[in-house]
Amino acid sequence: MLDFSRSIIESKQLFSRHFYIKRDDLIHPYCNGNKARKFASLLKKSPYSTWISYGGNQSNAMFALSYLAHIQGVVFKYVMPSFSQTPSGNLAYALKWGMQAYTLPQGTSIQSLALYAKSLLTPQALLIPQGGTYELSLPGMHSLADELSSSIGGNPVVFYTSGSGVGVITLQKALRALFPKATLVAINCAGSEAELRDKARAYGVGQMEILSSPFAFAKPKSVIWEMRAYLKQFHLRCDLVYDSPAFCVIYEHLNDFRGKELVFIHSGGLTGDISQQKRYSPALRQIKTTFDSI
Ligand SMILES: *Cc1c(COP(=O)(O)O)cnc(C)c1O
Repeated sequence: MLDFSRSIIESKQLFSRHFYIKRDDLIHPYCNGNKARKFASLLKKSPYSTWISYGGNQSNAMFALSYLAHIQGVVFKYVMPSFSQTPSGNLAYALKWGMQAYTLPQGTSIQSLALYAKSLLTPQALLIPQGGTYELSLPGMHSLADELSSSIGGNPVVFYTSGSGVGVITLQKALRALFPKATLVAINCAGSEAELRDKARAYGVGQMEILSSPFAFAKPKSVIWEMRAYLKQFHLRCDLVYDSPAFCVIYEHLNDFRGKELVFIHSGGLTGDISQQKRYSPALRQIKTTFDSI
């Protein structure tokens, strides 16, 4: 079962600055970080015997939901683009836990995947859209805000990565209620900043501090690889899609946060690297870290 007490706070010196690292990656080997917080509420008793979702065929959400469905004894149906190779990484795990995969041709739009998923709905089934929902996410983010408030306190700057925006928007809401002196800085790794602001506004979270990643979402980049290697030296393992790019962004903006207490919430998802690191060419994988001297 998910154990949120495993998410300790660590102190680390990175780029000659002190950081508190909130170790949400330690919550559970399979379901941790952002997904553990967002989907914790699915572990409560519920009338649904089936969960239905859709998205990429290596997605962290698919991985986390398949594991939670497995331990809850719920059927999990997932609509995704087809895959040509033997399943590996997140997909291999998800299938092992009994996920029922519905595949549409490669290149099918996310809207079409969503429509297909909706067509599978029955009264006993819960549809979990890509990224999850605010309603599902808020209880887990309340716990996170509460833990940050009691273990760190003060008026820190809190960094958290964002994809769909559901995580940062609900955490912002929770922090306002439980830890208003903290300033959340969302590191936007996917989609446009305007889109994230619109989503926040639509949910009633008007003000959001956002720093956007300059990288195309999930595309291999040598600086991301180097940053991951730099962080590893400090026994901080970060994934290639969210947290390593986020540290590149934070590094570039460190001067904006002079004199501030810095907190980084680890968003987990390290199993995603099994497939993601294969996309890095052997040449890139060889790169020696250039952050050694910092
Ligand atoms: C899903 C995910 C995110 C982004 O979460 P959103 O709530 O969709 O913004 C960040 N980090 C990791 C590791 C994730 O798996």
